Amino acid sequence: MPDAYYDGSMTATSFRAVDVILRKRQGLEHDAEELDAFLHAYLAGDVPDYQVSAWLMAVCWRGMTDRETSSLTRIMTRSGEVLDLGDLPHTVDKHSTGGVGDKTSLVLAPLLAAAGATVAKMSGRGLGHTGGTVDKLESIPGFSADLDERAFLRQAREVGIVVTGQSKALAPADGRLYALRDATGTVESLPLIASSIMSKKLAGGAGSIVLDVKVGSGAFFETVEEARPLAEAMIAIGRHAGRNMRAVLSSMAQPLGLAVGNALEVNEAVACLRGRGPTDLRELCLTLAGEVLAATGLPASRQRLESILDDGRAYERFERWIAAQGGDVSALDGLELAPGQELLRAERSGALAALDALALGNAASVLGAGRSRQGERVDAGVGVMLHAKVGDPVRAGEPIVTLYHRNGRGLEAARALAEGAVRIDDAAQAAPLLLETGLRAEPPFADTRP
Ligand code: URA
Repeated sequence: MPDAYYDGSMTATSFRAVDVILRKRQGLEHDAEELDAFLHAYLAGDVPDYQVSAWLMAVCWRGMTDRETSSLTRIMTRSGEVLDLGDLPHTVDKHSTGGVGDKTSLVLAPLLAAAGATVAKMSGRGLGHTGGTVDKLESIPGFSADLDERAFLRQAREVGIVVTGQSKALAPADGRLYALRDATGTVESLPLIASSIMSKKLAGGAGSIVLDVKVGSGAFFETVEEARPLAEAMIAIGRHAGRNMRAVLSSMAQPLGLAVGNALEVNEAVACLRGRGPTDLRELCLTLAGEVLAATGLPASRQRLESILDDGRAYERFERWIAAQGGDVSALDGLELAPGQELLRAERSGALAALDALALGNAASVLGAGRSRQGERVDAGVGVMLHAKVGDPVRAGEPIVTLYHRNGRGLEAARALAEGAVRIDDAAQAAPLLLETGLRAEPPFADTRP
């Protein structure tokens, strides 16, 4: 890279942003200094949004090499604080690339903590058709996801679990870039997604990370062939940053479990933590827990994890966690739902052949469970409850979906979406949940944390 692009001072004085855009438009590789100078100049206000937007669009079309993606991740990770979880035992984190009805964090965190790991985690709020863990947790009366760093670390040490909203102090460059991507149609780019997710995970400080990369209509990618490179890119980034990385590819062709909506999903997670609940949710939680625990070196057998779920240890840890963050545990026997209920019934007998996740996520969202713009309030009690899953036999007139609504808000649109999501054929196979497991990388050195 000629010196004209970068003089090592991380200012915009010695390079022209338009040259960076042109290089990417031509499909050339940026070196770390060039990327660093460009993004620091942007963060300092010396490069305008429109130039970064043009560069993002060029990245969408031209892609990035692994080296560029790693450099971009490092720049975003270091743009803010990096949490030091160093003296906490077996720190673990999980990231799901967004799904419908995905309440795994609510089950996985206490399962892992009861198994000896520390889960100190920042989670997002929902946007569009996907839900967010923080919205789900906030449907528990009194629960607060707003903790300062000292309280966050103290609870991680004392309870073994803490979950807060995404801190603005962590990877702030990603926050700026993500807002631009959202407004310029440049979210769907593998290197941009991988670096965005991993910059926040790396800043969160966990030693072992498991990724649940979703595949299907409710996810970024519709096929395993498209999703695997995203998992591999994130694994490579984490490994280079010294983290133990595991990933699974799981289906998001239909919602996970039966419940879609904040309080509905907490109720379902509680059932799973009490050894009941839908089998796909339980299976995914046990798989993710086994993967990430093995990465820490803790005992990770299926039998051990099942007994932690079934004998109440995971639920007991869940209650301690919720209480520590101000939640009313007496409400957990059944969070209040919206009073309006509308049933959609099977129009014919046969087998359920499709339950489109994207359409059902959008149905829950228009009822008020999700938000179309950041900052909107969500309604904890509304959502979609399924009565059957793909492959199940159904009889004409049987309920397939219940829509929980408040005073009819969004009901007409939700009904149309839910009707379009359901397909009944003469016969149908159960849809596989786990599409690929065992994607992994250990860093060049072992995790020797206690
Ligand atoms: N989630 C993120 O955090 N970033 C992306 O780019 C996409 C999903």
